[in-house]
Amino acid sequence: MLSKQISRLAIRSSHNYIFNRTICSSSILRRKKRINPIIRTWEILKQDVQNMGSSFEESEMRAHNSFPSHTDILVIGGGIMGTSTAYWLREKSGLRGVNVTVVEKDPSFSKSTTCLSVGGLRQQFSLPENIQMSLFGAEFLRTLKDRFGEDADVCFTPNGYLTLAGEDGAHQLLDNHKLQKSLGANNIILNKKQLEERFPWMNTDGIELGCLGMEKEGWFDPWSLLNLMKRGATDLGTRFVHGEVTNFLFTETNVSVSGDEENTQYTGSNEVVVKLPNGEEKTITFSICVIATGSETNEIAKLAKIGTGKGILSVPVPVERRKRYVYRFLCQGEQPGINSPMTIDKTGTYFRRECLGGSFICGLSPLPEEEPATDNLDVDYNYFDSSIWPILAERVPAFNCVKCQSGWSGYYDYNYYDQNGIIGIHPYYGNFIFATGFSGHGIQQAPAVGRAVAELILDGGFKTIDLTRLSFDRIIVNKPMYEVAIV
Ligand SMILES: Cc1cc2nc3c(=O)[nH]c(=O)nc-3n(C[C@H](O)[C@H](O)[C@H](O)COP(=O)(O)OP(=O)(O)OC[C@H]3O[C@@H](n4cnc5c(N)ncnc54)[C@H](O)[C@@H]3O)c2cc1C
Repeated sequence: MLSKQISRLAIRSSHNYIFNRTICSSSILRRKKRINPIIRTWEILKQDVQNMGSSFEESEMRAHNSFPSHTDILVIGGGIMGTSTAYWLREKSGLRGVNVTVVEKDPSFSKSTTCLSVGGLRQQFSLPENIQMSLFGAEFLRTLKDRFGEDADVCFTPNGYLTLAGEDGAHQLLDNHKLQKSLGANNIILNKKQLEERFPWMNTDGIELGCLGMEKEGWFDPWSLLNLMKRGATDLGTRFVHGEVTNFLFTETNVSVSGDEENTQYTGSNEVVVKLPNGEEKTITFSICVIATGSETNEIAKLAKIGTGKGILSVPVPVERRKRYVYRFLCQGEQPGINSPMTIDKTGTYFRRECLGGSFICGLSPLPEEEPATDNLDVDYNYFDSSIWPILAERVPAFNCVKCQSGWSGYYDYNYYDQNGIIGIHPYYGNFIFATGFSGHGIQQAPAVGRAVAELILDGGFKTIDLTRLSFDRIIVNKPMYEVAIV
């Protein structure tokens, strides 16, 4: 109860800061409406010139790469979630918009999940929220050139997904398909015979049904999407800072809650410490902080006492690193054709063509007892030989004879609570918003997540896709949102 009230308080105070300016200027204009039209036009022109001035100041500061001491909205993490959030905040708020700063510790993104992702886009999920977010992801890619210009390209390959199910998974596949269709996805169910006709390269032993995406599904280049969104966000006035957030600074406020005389202190934070590449430490004050630190979110949350404090603060952010291997192999036989879909076997093993010359990529999430250590990104090639290749060879006879050429690994931003994104305001810190834990399906959802976070901040709630059920609160009240179609 106390924390709910505190949350509301904190939300109100942080939101007020941002909106005061807009509210003031629009009420001035309303008053002016009753005044002489010439004076009103003059006031509007004056306002526009002032806006141009402040926008010019912002771009000057960007050009000189000066370090900001204050920002309206601080985004920690410049991967796809943080960058998309920054893009949407500026896109939605326009010229008179909020001041947004993204802090990223590694602009080469060498270990960031975004750049090590496979880049798949599908609507074949079991939760309406995931289906809707991926539909918007597809729409965003379709209209990329309208937003970012004629040269915008993320190399989208629209070959669809093919999810296979055995007898035990067939019902679930049908239920998912119905839900996906009802929300606007375009996929079809194929029985064993239809699968054999359409995909003669496949051995359908043990397969009952397949669900094939007919449009809005495929794969794209995550690095290109990240760069486009970063360019868009920068053009709209976002500042990107190279540095690592190493701490939060706290302030205590007296609060009085009727009926609770014991808890009279609210400890909040509006300031972070940022370590620059030269070792220097600086601070930035902020009104709202968006935490988009992917697989490292638990560590950054601990700096804010989330997971180590009392009461609500004793609940950790359930997101951790999980290493996932991706292997590239060459096949010379009668292989899946160039229009073959990303195929997910009933075992969870996936494969797709990488390009034209008989090259494929594949992967499989390990069993809990097989989870590899996460202290490095080395690739275990034995895992391909022992766990993946036998399944591939069984499903596609041509894969009996393959050569594993190379591989890479990346960290899933794994939500061990229910394997889904956590999107929303922290129940204690009303000015902290999380966008994390997407567990292997975040790239395709990033456009929708960035827009949703921007809506929370600028509109005070979700406006397009209702993501309330994916908020942090579900962890506190123990209402998991399981997604059965996790790869
Ligand atoms: C092998 C693999 C395959 C995948 N395949 C798919 C797929 O097919 N489809 C799909 O939709 N998704 C897929 N994903 C998942 C998807 O890539 C992720 O969900 C998404 O990229 C997460 O983005 P993010 O911005 O949250 O995290 P990240 O990209 O990791 O970005 C977080 C950023 O925060 C920065 N950071 C952390 N701590 C700090 C700090 N203290 N200060 C400053 N900066 C900090 C990090 O340097 C990092 O750049 C896959 C992931 C992997 C690993």
